[in-house]
Amino acid sequence: MTDRLPGFDTLAIHAGAAPDAATGARATPIYQTTSFVFDDVDHAASLFGLQAFGNIYSRIGNPTCAVLEERVAALEGGTAALAVASGHAAQMLVFHALMQPGDEFVAGTKLYGGSINQFTHSFKNFGWNVVWANPDEPSTFDAAITPKTKAIFIESIANPGGVIVDIKAIAAIAKKHRIPLIVDNTMASPYLIRPFEHGADIIVHSATKFLGGHGNSIGGVIVDGGSFNFAGDDRYPMLSKPRAEYGGMVLGETFGNFGFAIACRVLGLRDLGPALSPFNAFLILTGIETLPLRMQRHSDNALAVATHLAKHDKVAWVSYPGLPDDRYHALAKQYCPQGAGAVFTFGLKDGYEAGVKLVSNLKLFSHLANIGDTRSLVIHPASTTHRQLTDDQKTQAGAGPEVVRLSIGIEDKADLIDDLDQALADA
Ligand code: PLP
Repeated sequence: MTDRLPGFDTLAIHAGAAPDAATGARATPIYQTTSFVFDDVDHAASLFGLQAFGNIYSRIGNPTCAVLEERVAALEGGTAALAVASGHAAQMLVFHALMQPGDEFVAGTKLYGGSINQFTHSFKNFGWNVVWANPDEPSTFDAAITPKTKAIFIESIANPGGVIVDIKAIAAIAKKHRIPLIVDNTMASPYLIRPFEHGADIIVHSATKFLGGHGNSIGGVIVDGGSFNFAGDDRYPMLSKPRAEYGGMVLGETFGNFGFAIACRVLGLRDLGPALSPFNAFLILTGIETLPLRMQRHSDNALAVATHLAKHDKVAWVSYPGLPDDRYHALAKQYCPQGAGAVFTFGLKDGYEAGVKLVSNLKLFSHLANIGDTRSLVIHPASTTHRQLTDDQKTQAGAGPEVVRLSIGIEDKADLIDDLDQALADA
C-alpha cells in the first residue's frame, strides 16, 4: 500500500466497513436489535454521559447505521455523519440543532416541493421562519439576511428543474455573515458534486434517492463538514451552552469539529426520534457500492434523452444543464464536469392536458413520486408533487402546468427514447 488516500470508487465499497469481528461476515451485518447489553454499570454510565462512544439503543445509534454514516461522511469529505429515517427528518434535525423559536433561515426558492412545504408550514409550528431568495442571483441571499438569520439552505442541483446552484458564491455570503451553509446534495450525490469543497458547512441527503438508488428504502443522512465553529457562539445555544442532561457538557466544545453531528444525534435524534431502521441502512449501503457506476450511467442516459427531446416537435423546451445551450451549462461544467445528473424537466407545447396524457401513455417509465431509481421515472409536478403550492410558487419552483419531470434510469437509452416517442405521438 502507498500513502495515497483511497479513491472515491474504493470508498463507496469499503468506507466504514470491515469483516464482522464476531463472525467474519463480509457483508455488513444487519444489527436488528433495539438495545445493546452494557459491560457493567460504569460502562452504562459512561455511555449515557457521552464519556465513551458505544451503542445504547437503536433510536440513538446502531452499528449497521454507523457503517452507513461513516461511508457517506467519507464520500462527502465530512468529519462525521448521522443516518436518519428520511431526507425530511435530516432537514428537521439540522434546523433543530441550529434554530430557536423566532429565528430565521434563508432558502433558495428552487427546491423539492416537499421541502418548500416543510419550511413554509411545519417549521412555522416550531417558530422557525423561512425567508426566500433566488438561487440564480446569489446577492438575493445577502439581502435576505437579518440578525435573526441562523443558516442558508440550498440544493446543489435543484429538484425538479435541474438548476445548478453557484455554491461558491452563496458560501461566500454565508461566510461573510458567519452563518452555516446547508446544502441538500440529494440530486447530485457526492459522485457528481462535493459541496464541502465549494464552502458548504453541512450536507443533507435524501438517501431514498441516488445513495440507495434502487427505489426500495426511505432514508436520510446529515453530514458535518466540521468547518463551522459553533463553540462560544451564543447564536447557537444547542451547541454553545451547557447541557444539563449531559452534566453541563458544551457539545460544540467537547466534540469540536464533529460537534454538529453529535448535537443532531444526542439532542435531535434522541428527543424527536426519526431513527433509520438497520435493514434500510443495509439496503442503502449496498446501493452506495455501485453509486459511481450508476451516477455516470444516469447522467450519460439523461444527456442522450434530453438531446433527443430538445429536437422533438411536441416539446417547447428542455431544461437540462448537460445540454450545451442550457442556461446552467457553464455552472454544470464548473461544478459537475462528469455529468449533470439524472433528473430534468421539459415543457410540452400543449400544456397541462398534454402532461397528464403523456404520463398515462408511457410504458417503460413509471409514473410515481420519486427520483433516483435504477428505473426511469416520470411525473407531472403540477398535478402531483407541487399541487399544494400556489400557482406562483409552482412557477417559481420550476413546476408550471406544462412541465414534465423525468428521472432517467440506467436502462438502454434507445428503449427510453422509443417509449417517450410513442407516448408523445398521442399526447
Ligand atoms: N430533498 C430532495 C432534493 C428530495 O428530492 C427529497 C424527496 O423527494 C427530499 C429532500 C426529501 O427526502 P425524503 O423523501 O427521503 O424524506
